Amino acid sequence: MLLKNYSFETVLPECNPMAETINTVALLSEDIGEVLPYLASVIRACTYDDNIKTLTFRRQGKGIALYPRKITVTRLRDREEAKGVLDELKALINNTYDNRQNIQPCYKKGGELRYLDVFKLLPGTNCRECGEMTCLAFATKVVQQEVQISRCSPLFSSRFEEKRKKLLEMLRAVGYEVPIEST
Ligand code: SF4
Repeated sequence: MLLKNYSFETVLPECNPMAETINTVALLSEDIGEVLPYLASVIRACTYDDNIKTLTFRRQGKGIALYPRKITVTRLRDREEAKGVLDELKALINNTYDNRQNIQPCYKKGGELRYLDVFKLLPGTNCRECGEMTCLAFATKVVQQEVQISRCSPLFSSRFEEKRKKLLEMLRAVGYEVPIEST
């Protein structure tokens, strides 16, 4: 076990004090810098740069950032959810650390997937088959990993084959899950 404990506080987002969600900042009892390259290897769709020891990723709409002595998580419902997410991260950190001899570390990975880049490769018809009002709204949710790309059924028609190939390749390159039947 690497990380034994953490203390945390919840804060309102600086950019929007009226927001309905909260953020959390956890201070770590141990330095987890050593395990970050291994986490970068096992966490799908993350961004990591060993020079600045910062690993970021999104899960279920939340923005998560891991630093050697700190973790931040955005868009949380309440303190209870913050504790649950932090406990999961603690378990992930410790499991990865314990298993690090079987993991190839990764020292640089990814770049932010931009929703406009995803949007440009969607059909652009705003047909709402995915359940969203617009392709732009859908693209935003794809980037935040709140929906799967397969929800856009028009994209998987022969008409959009070229766009589909490019988009799936882009998603795969940054570690997003792409259904095998969609390739
Ligand atoms: S199903 Fe695809 S084309 Fe239709 S609105 Fe959603 S993202 Fe756009």
